[in-house]
Amino acid sequence: MTTSIVWFRKCIRLHDNPSFFEACTDKNSTSVLPLYIIDPEIVGDSLENISYNRMRFLFECLEDLDSRLRSQLASKLLITFGQPLEVLREIHQKSKCSVGIFSDYCSEPYGLQITRSIENYFSNSKSKYFCRTHFAAASHTITDIEDLISSPNFQNPKSMRDMVKLFSNHFGRLDNGLFSIPEPLSIPSSIPSFPQEFSSDYADFPDRFKILSLSQLHSEIERLGKNASPYSKSYFKGGETEALSRLSKKISTQPKYVNEFRKPKTMSTNSVSEPMEPSTSGLSPYLSTGCLSIRLFWKECEKCHMGNDFTKPPESLHGQMLFREMFYLLSRSVSNWDQDLDNQMCKKIDWGDYNDSALRSWEMGLTGFPYIDAMMRQLDATGWMHHLGRHAVSCFLTRGQLWQHWKYGRDVFQKKLLDSDWAVNNANWLWLSGVAPFSMPYFRLYNPCPDSKSSLNVETKTAAFIKFWIPELKEFPPKYILEPHLSSISIQQSSNCVIGKDYPFPMVNRKESAKENLMRFKDSLAA
Ligand code: FAD
Repeated sequence: MTTSIVWFRKCIRLHDNPSFFEACTDKNSTSVLPLYIIDPEIVGDSLENISYNRMRFLFECLEDLDSRLRSQLASKLLITFGQPLEVLREIHQKSKCSVGIFSDYCSEPYGLQITRSIENYFSNSKSKYFCRTHFAAASHTITDIEDLISSPNFQNPKSMRDMVKLFSNHFGRLDNGLFSIPEPLSIPSSIPSFPQEFSSDYADFPDRFKILSLSQLHSEIERLGKNASPYSKSYFKGGETEALSRLSKKISTQPKYVNEFRKPKTMSTNSVSEPMEPSTSGLSPYLSTGCLSIRLFWKECEKCHMGNDFTKPPESLHGQMLFREMFYLLSRSVSNWDQDLDNQMCKKIDWGDYNDSALRSWEMGLTGFPYIDAMMRQLDATGWMHHLGRHAVSCFLTRGQLWQHWKYGRDVFQKKLLDSDWAVNNANWLWLSGVAPFSMPYFRLYNPCPDSKSSLNVETKTAAFIKFWIPELKEFPPKYILEPHLSSISIQQSSNCVIGKDYPFPMVNRKESAKENLMRFKDSLAA
């Protein structure tokens, strides 16, 4: 008798999930225990490390996984709160039979450490009940990261050209020029039964970890959401069902959109007709939680390309996915990816001292720069921001205006973004603060008061996006809204928003701060 534990870790889904597939089809499995572990080291003992929006999204992912397991496979999900090794050890002991642990590879330093501790513990276990561990590669990424970075020819990719070459060499090309990427796995048609000993009575589990029912978890999370924004649920609902539906709605049935996709042309302020629909795919929250397989996304874009003209990397959707792979590879091959010390991909810059009040103004959307504030308020309320908005606010915080270390902004994003992703978030902060080899030149700054011609692609005719997120400015004429302090006092009065009283003055002089910071950056590079 063998109980196979499927520990859903980076892949909260049934489709194209190698560890789930392997456990269900393993001939030794007599029962399968689908498990999710909420690790206090990541979320905090009282869920304080992660915003309400992120936790709510995670809850919806778990609720959906449980529901799909029940309706499609007559199984269910066990949710625990505890340290992964402790949880797995107790389940092993309680199983009183051999156990197989099936999970996915995790490239983050903490995830790797957990994987190693689990492998060590079970390979040295003296228990009479045997335990095997399997951590499936290439589950959360298209490439097998360990395999690639340990190959003798591997060199850190620094550009899209490097990534295209790497994919060509690794996967090879088909006759039609497309990379020969393996097909996604299907959902197993059946699954061995849920183990009896975990079906009802959890009373004899130790205090070291908790078993949580969905309703308990829901009330814990809703406790955090007491003061949540009414727009908290404006953009995305969590879960594989939603992920597949969005994939179909935005990608599979929209070949024209996919084939003409040019990332730099997408609107950072959404469109007036669809204010709550991102101009990009909006799939990142589903990819980062693993509700959607990156391979399936790749293949659906590929189907749209067949027989048509289509845009190419770096601007295309495949280009975006290649950036994601590039950052996953680098985050594993480059030591200290999340720091500036001893990180070969990060130039050492003499950033200013930590400025609590400046950081708070930035985080809460009170800088006095309406475009920046609208983006930051949207992030706070919903957990979402368009890529170009992220460019603008990160440039503003670092080399642009506030001269603060990128890690402070990184931490705010990590806590609040629905698509928060350790490898990708750190990579993009390195990129935007101008310190990485793949960064744009440090002297190319974004104007925090963009006009209609700005590469930030801002809708300025009605300025509906700015007005929505900054209601103080809702009666302001669009002509003045991006720099309202420059309008006359009579316009401010007739718009019911006097700058300095109803909405802040700009916290810095944007031109002077930009000039000063460019000098500082240059000096740091020369030092
Ligand atoms: P699309 O344009 O539709 O792209 C499709 C997919 O490609 C995305 O879902 C994402 O998985 C991937 N992708 C797109 N752009 C990038 C990129 N620049 N780097 C790596 N992968 C990319 N993205 C995250 O997923 N998690 C983060 O924590 C994150 N932090 C960021 C921090 C900063 C400062 C910046 C500038 C960008 C950050 N990004 C992050 C990248 C990017 O903004 C988002 O992936 C993108 O906006 C998600 O929207 P989408 O799914 O509609 O993207």
